[in-house]
Amino acid sequence: MSVTCPLCHSRQVISLDRGKKIGGLIGTVGGAASGVAGTVSGATTGAEFGGAIGVVAGPAGVAVGSIAGAIFGALVGAATGGVTGAKLGEVIDQRVLDNYVCQDCGLTFSDHTSRDQAI
Ligand SMILES: [Zn+2]
Repeated sequence: MSVTCPLCHSRQVISLDRGKKIGGLIGTVGGAASGVAGTVSGATTGAEFGGAIGVVAGPAGVAVGSIAGAIFGALVGAATGGVTGAKLGEVIDQRVLDNYVCQDCGLTFSDHTSRDQAI
């Protein structure tokens, strides 16, 4: 990737990826929370998964299976939410935020800015 500063044309440009990091964090936390709450399809899968174990293990196993299912659902929700959040954040980085910083002149700019100037 060769991003150049639109002001001084330096190649000493770094990407911040703020949206990607924040999006991933929010997605992970939100996904885990909704996984526990049972609003995400992952939680349904987790409950079914836990229920199946519970049936095999007997009545006492149902409670353990349900807890295991909730944890499983939270993990699935966190993983799914994290990926979704990171992808969403990446889009925000590219479209909204000034994702690049020139280390020579300190200018912050976005993909959008550099593309506009290149055209
Ligand atoms: Zn510069």
